[in-house]
Amino acid sequence: MVKSMQVYEGKAKKVIPLDDGKVIMEFKDDATAFDGKKKAQFKGKGWLNAQISAVLFKVLEEKCVKTHFIGVAGDNRLIVERLKMYPLEVVVRNVVAGSLKKRLPIEEGRELPEPIVELYYKDDSLGDPMINHHHAKVLGISEGEIKEMERIALKVNEILKEYFAERGIILVDFKLEFGKNERGEIILGDEISPDTCRFWDAKTKKSLDKDVFRFDKGDLINAYEELYHRLTGEA
Ligand code: ADP
Ligand code: UDP
Repeated sequence: MVKSMQVYEGKAKKVIPLDDGKVIMEFKDDATAFDGKKKAQFKGKGWLNAQISAVLFKVLEEKCVKTHFIGVAGDNRLIVERLKMYPLEVVVRNVVAGSLKKRLPIEEGRELPEPIVELYYKDDSLGDPMINHHHAKVLGISEGEIKEMERIALKVNEILKEYFAERGIILVDFKLEFGKNERGEIILGDEISPDTCRFWDAKTKKSLDKDVFRFDKGDLINAYEELYHRLTGEA
């Protein structure tokens, strides 16, 4: 979690607090996978993730989802509302991939009958374990707060699934993080980018996300650029 008024440097971003309740979120070119065991740097990744996140936060804001996004503040920086983050990762899945293969006897690529929402406790030393509502309560997060995060996560899924489908892309799964603002509202924070989502080309099923790096499927920057191009029409 980010302590107020201190610069926090995470694996993928730097969070620089300003003194007006806002923070600068600087996206790095570093990539990590498998609990930080695999590491590399890709020139331009920070820029792509910042711009893609900005596009997607704007799409969500237009559909009345409250996000921390305020604006783009330079090449690889966003300016966002400072939140007190919940130590949670909220994952939504539409298609079987990644760690779900270890949990259900269904092969990769099968569409789920309805979206699955999962909660993970964000703690590197524990390996980000999956938790349920009861565990969350012990962590001081109420049933009401969890239900609200799950409701927003499913709404984000409905909006983005359609948005990507219109662009020939399957939204396979993604991770969200939430925080509370000064008014006590639960707000969508962090990023929505190919680092934190799985995107497959609808025709070829080619990955346009961090699986390219995780599983050495090709050139990460080419994949992220293609995604950016499909979203914005820009080269
Ligand atoms: P990690 O901490 O997992 O290494 P990052 O490198 O992405 O991840 O660091 C970004 C940090 O910023 C995360 O801890 C995330 O919870 C936090 N964060 C995201 N949005 C906000 C926000 N609006 N205000 C304060 N902190 C935020
Ligand atoms: N995810 C993430 N950060 C994490 C774990 C997962 O952004 O610390 C995203 C991941 O990119 C994918 C979704 O959440 O889009 C589901 O990930 P999964 O549980 O399948 O884990 P993985 O096998 O990808 O580590």
